[in-house]
Amino acid sequence: MEPVIGRFAPTPSGALHVGNAFAFLLAWLGAKSQGGRIILRMEDLDPHRSSPAMAAQAMDDLAWLGLTWDEGGQGATPDPRYVQSQRTQIYQQYFDRLAAQGLVYPCFCSRSDLKAASAPHLSDGQLRYPGTCARLTPEQQAQRREVRSPAWRVRVAERSYTIEDGVQGRYTEYLPTQCGDFILRRSDGVFAYQLAVVVDDTLMGVNQVVRARDLLPSAPRQRYLMDLLGFPAPQYYHVPTLLDQDGKRLAKRERSIRIHDLRACTTPQALLGKLAFLAGLQSAPVPQTLPALLERFSWSRVPRQDIRVPEGLFTLSECSPD
Ligand code: GLU
Repeated sequence: MEPVIGRFAPTPSGALHVGNAFAFLLAWLGAKSQGGRIILRMEDLDPHRSSPAMAAQAMDDLAWLGLTWDEGGQGATPDPRYVQSQRTQIYQQYFDRLAAQGLVYPCFCSRSDLKAASAPHLSDGQLRYPGTCARLTPEQQAQRREVRSPAWRVRVAERSYTIEDGVQGRYTEYLPTQCGDFILRRSDGVFAYQLAVVVDDTLMGVNQVVRARDLLPSAPRQRYLMDLLGFPAPQYYHVPTLLDQDGKRLAKRERSIRIHDLRACTTPQALLGKLAFLAGLQSAPVPQTLPALLERFSWSRVPRQDIRVPEGLFTLSECSPD
């Protein structure tokens, strides 16, 4: 069997929170329980939202938790070969390959055009692109280019893509109705997550993708791009998203869930124990070590549904006031 290569792929646009740590813990256990390796990749594609300081802090928080990685940088300094903002020339090559297949076209729609033209996607709240710019003639494209620089979309195939997810089971999307032609490159030149993640996972040898369940709808799109580019598909494990008391995704601005803030008033073992409890790996939120969790880890114990974090599980109240 080929060795497992998993990854941590934080977006350094905000501080790491317990929801991220939950997914990274499971990614680490998933790879290490099979003697695998972990790659750390900084997903800082959007230059306006990400910062090197946040990347450094994410690395420091992961190291504090004991969630080590084997490639991707040392200390708090990412290796530029694993930093998405440094990899645009690589994404361009694969974008060009898709374009050479005649599958890429410019899209001049503004955000408000898109909102007006499409019904919200049912499963993930995203908009389905109705194909407005898919059939523009070269003359129409040239005219529009004079007033607006385009985004670039890939034409989706008229077929379903199915993911056999290690936690969620079988997940299928029929791309034309469930997502429509999707963006590969934004109008400001930034490559889209869907393209970057597929290229990076493949070139970095990643064969086990563990991430939060809110990204499940991206998996069929990514499988589609992998098919087009002739890439092998990884094994996916979409783990529950952690929710707040109102059933909403945990927000990074909430201090009591940021690893950096929790570090002042808890131990890595206490935090790992709470995350392991939520992951179904132990029956009470008691402190736990990584070697002990490795011994009891099994994907079959991880719940499928999103998890509402019990009130007061993560709290700063034991901290002395600063
Ligand atoms: N960078 C993404 C995030 O922080 C994760 C993407 C992925 O795991 O594919 O949500």
